[in-house]
Amino acid sequence: MDAKHNLVVATHTINKNDRSALSAIALEAKENLGIETYTALVDKGYHNGKQIEICKQGSITTIVAQPGQGKSNENGTQPAYLVARFQYNKSNDTYTCPEGQTLQTTGRWHKKTTDKDSYNFKKYRTSKCRECPVKHLCTSRAAGREIDRSQYADAVEENNKRYQENPQLYRKRQEINEHIFGTIKRQWGYNHTNLTGLDKVNGEHSLIMLVYNIKRSINILGVPELIAKLQKWNSPYKEKVLFLLKTSYLKLNTATVFYSEKLTA
Ligand code: SF4
Repeated sequence: MDAKHNLVVATHTINKNDRSALSAIALEAKENLGIETYTALVDKGYHNGKQIEICKQGSITTIVAQPGQGKSNENGTQPAYLVARFQYNKSNDTYTCPEGQTLQTTGRWHKKTTDKDSYNFKKYRTSKCRECPVKHLCTSRAAGREIDRSQYADAVEENNKRYQENPQLYRKRQEINEHIFGTIKRQWGYNHTNLTGLDKVNGEHSLIMLVYNIKRSINILGVPELIAKLQKWNSPYKEKVLFLLKTSYLKLNTATVFYSEKLTA
């Protein structure tokens, strides 16, 4: 949805987890709008390092809500010693811990493989942990604390900083989304799909969004102005539609000739 007119700027249905879905729809919106850059306001379900990095590479400024930090972790880390309390120093690629000690990396990249994806990360440690008086609050690892930094950490930290610095802007996201959800789900009653299968659901959903955009455009412009704009519109889709029609016709024609020859034989 765009923030200015509450129009749908990109839509597709997915049958996978939201966490790997951000970049596809964000890039689709950019392409549809024909713009070089924009700011994407996104809820926390989409917070994923790789996806935020792809958006960054595509000149899209993300403000994805930061998921809440855990209260402790499996190594007995207490809230005051969570990784968010460690300061990353970009200039010399080190971390400073809450006790002021410097954690360094050997520079070696390790690979972590999750269910359907993998990413690289570096490890940061300090030998000072062994004599640290608060080690029991920081980690239960005998060798001391170990911080992992993913290859996407820069992009994630930049995103999180924007999120923390722009609470008003981020709150806008809900206002923008409420408009369409209220109309489509509550007023029109589309709280489920009539069709099944990803392609069919995509088609059904795209039609609903198209109708929403037409109705919304009528509200914004009025019918005469909308028609006048459509008449002047130099559609980039005309050639594509013509190509598809020709291809479908050729396929149909070839198939008809093929099967009629078979039948005659
Ligand atoms: S255990 Fe190590 S990393 Fe943790 S606070 Fe102490 S010195 Fe810092």
